[in-house]
Amino acid sequence: MSNQTPDAPPKSPVLPIRLGLDDKVQFACYKGISCFNACCRQADITLTPYDIIRLKRRLGLTSTEFLKRYTVPFEMDGQGMPGIKLRTEDDAPVCKLLDGDNGCSVYEDRPSACRYYPMGLLAMRPTGSPREEQHWVLVKEDHCRGHEEDNTLTVAQYRKEQGVEEYDEANYDWYRIILKKRSSGPTVGRPTPQSYHLFFMASYDMDKFREFIKESKFRQYYLLEDDYFEKLIRDDVELMKFGFRLLLQVLYGEQSIPLVDGALEKRLAERREIIEAKKKLAEELAKQEDPVARYIDD
Ligand code: SF4
Ligand code: SF4
Repeated sequence: MSNQTPDAPPKSPVLPIRLGLDDKVQFACYKGISCFNACCRQADITLTPYDIIRLKRRLGLTSTEFLKRYTVPFEMDGQGMPGIKLRTEDDAPVCKLLDGDNGCSVYEDRPSACRYYPMGLLAMRPTGSPREEQHWVLVKEDHCRGHEEDNTLTVAQYRKEQGVEEYDEANYDWYRIILKKRSSGPTVGRPTPQSYHLFFMASYDMDKFREFIKESKFRQYYLLEDDYFEKLIRDDVELMKFGFRLLLQVLYGEQSIPLVDGALEKRLAERREIIEAKKKLAEELAKQEDPVARYIDD
């Protein structure tokens, strides 16, 4: 085990120790343990884009239906960045996907946070470093008896055992987007509601995002080979990864999707026309006599 994390609050169940892949933890969880499912009865699960793809497929729903039925929105950073959590029962913090004493009804497709628990992923970029780093923390809550089990394993072994590597790999660029937003803070200005709308759709609602890129205007602006475009239409995971590239390009100027020649100029010209038209309309309205004022004058 290594460095102390200075930012864990004093009474937090998160141990103030930053773990690396080779650090060891004492823990075991299995069907039959005295606390089986206690964690799912106190669920506070933030979902990642890949979690949603796995869950909507498992449940045979569109992403839009899944979001409506099984999730609640929240603000990730106090500045409007939209996040999604698994919905719990109305009268208790019990996960809606828990099947009573049988346990998780979607176990093979359970979200990343459920796989990790009682660990948490800590993505960060050290000051002055060009690269993001991943560390892990251990969460010790009274209801979880797994910490008392006589079983020691490394973080790397735990991640493998829980099948979480695939999830982290799929979500990698999304974590970068969140991290960039956090590290830039309010200094770069608040993203527009349209940017947040795009972020929501490209992160969580793949079926709506697919319809969005199928609109004819999208390919008038972004240069996408036919084969690649067909793949995006067919494959949720490819589409999700493309969405991350689009977000990095739109929000932070990381140019990885080529633009159609002259598209930028055309768009700027269209914008100028719209601004001019709006200005003219405002001038016309300002010239018109105020009908209420006239009524009062009479
Ligand atoms: S998704 Fe499954 S593992 Fe995760 S909290 Fe719900 S029931 Fe528990
Ligand atoms: S040991 Fe911890 S993670 Fe496993 S079922 Fe019990 S409370 Fe949940």
